[in-house]
Amino acid sequence: MTKPQAPKKSYPYYSLALLVSGLGVLFVAWRSIGPAIDISPTTLLVVFGLCLFTIAVGYPHPSSGHVSFDRVGQVATLLVFGPIIAAAVSAAASFTYPIYRIAKGVAVKDVLLASLHNTGLMIWVVLGGGLFYTFAGGPVPLGTLTLSSLIKVIGAMLVMQVINEVGMSVYLLARNGNYRNYISLFNNGVEFTAGFIGVLVAATYLVSQKGLFILLMGVLTLGMFVLRRFAVMRNRLEVLVTERTAELEEKTRELELKATHDMLTGLYNRRYADGYLEAEIKSSIEGHKQFTVALADIDHFKQINDHHSHETGDKVLVKVAELLSEHCRSTDTIARYGGEEFLLCFPRSTTGDAHAVCEKLRSIIESYNWNDIASNVTVTLSFGVAQIDVNSKRKTILREADERLYAAKNLGRNRVVA
Ligand code: GH3
Ligand code: MG
Ligand code: MG
Repeated sequence: MTKPQAPKKSYPYYSLALLVSGLGVLFVAWRSIGPAIDISPTTLLVVFGLCLFTIAVGYPHPSSGHVSFDRVGQVATLLVFGPIIAAAVSAAASFTYPIYRIAKGVAVKDVLLASLHNTGLMIWVVLGGGLFYTFAGGPVPLGTLTLSSLIKVIGAMLVMQVINEVGMSVYLLARNGNYRNYISLFNNGVEFTAGFIGVLVAATYLVSQKGLFILLMGVLTLGMFVLRRFAVMRNRLEVLVTERTAELEEKTRELELKATHDMLTGLYNRRYADGYLEAEIKSSIEGHKQFTVALADIDHFKQINDHHSHETGDKVLVKVAELLSEHCRSTDTIARYGGEEFLLCFPRSTTGDAHAVCEKLRSIIESYNWNDIASNVTVTLSFGVAQIDVNSKRKTILREADERLYAAKNLGRNRVVA
């Protein structure tokens, strides 16, 4: 059986309903048909042990919860002792198995709930499959394995599987609405293989050859442990691959960011801006749209570095970048184009529009309270604005903007020349 590992949200009503109805059906079945075969307390204990062991030797599966070989114990018990004993023993083993989790620190309430859930579901599964088998005329004890009895066993295993999948799907649906990932070919493959091994165990037990039976149990035990080992290894590898992939993705994101952004201010860098400008000029000319750029340069920035510190200079750069980003339009693109030089791109804007935006930015920078960064710092910006025409290339428009920026500096700085 496979069961959810650690329920995110417990859903007690369904589990309780499953348990109560299962116990009821088991009681009615026991009263009406009785256990098929007398069983001594010692044998009962051994069978219980086998069922418990085949559950316990399971392993965690990343998407299917706990995968176990419980069908071995269930099918073998069914074929030797009949459906009532098989269901009762399987229920007892399912109830007992999760209890070890208390020692692992899982809350008693959760453990109990898992126990009750598994018990209820397993009664339904084993009793359903078992009654199908006996009503179809399957012999208990199995006796000689014939094609006819094998077909009935397969039928019983199918019934068990259907009940198991429906029971789990409803549970998962009730718990978190996600049941689709649960049903898998792999799980069903494990259950059916375990079921067939159960047939082998029953048949070998019933031919009463002790040596053969012990050999089979030994091989089975080893086989299950080896499988479990592989499964654990596979899970570890999967976790490792997931972790490494996440690390690589993070690194890739970081590299992409570094390739296009300036690390100090967080604005786009010159490399990105050049590519953007090239594409935007081309598409604006083709689409007959206006496109304007501005180069902005901090006035006397060298003095800020010299009179205060390089660190203060950096803080000023970061703040200027922040103010520019904050007060530009969402369609505008800003980049740090040089040391203390910024490129502002205004798609679908005339020189007049750009001039207005730059003038607003100039005024905001000028009136910002720079004392927050260092006392007696004043920061102003000069702007040179240029608009594309049909013959514009990236270099020509930048040259024009730079010439106007130079003019703004010559005219006394802290101004926009368009
Ligand atoms: P102007 O008004 O003519 O633009 O004068 P300016 O002092 O701003 O211009 P100049 O080109 O003489 O000086 C620019 C200074 O910017 C020189 C350089 O050390 C400084 N700078 C460039 N990049 C950085 C940076 O990342 N951090 C700091 N703190 N300073 C930088
Ligand atoms: Mg400057
Ligand atoms: Mg400069």
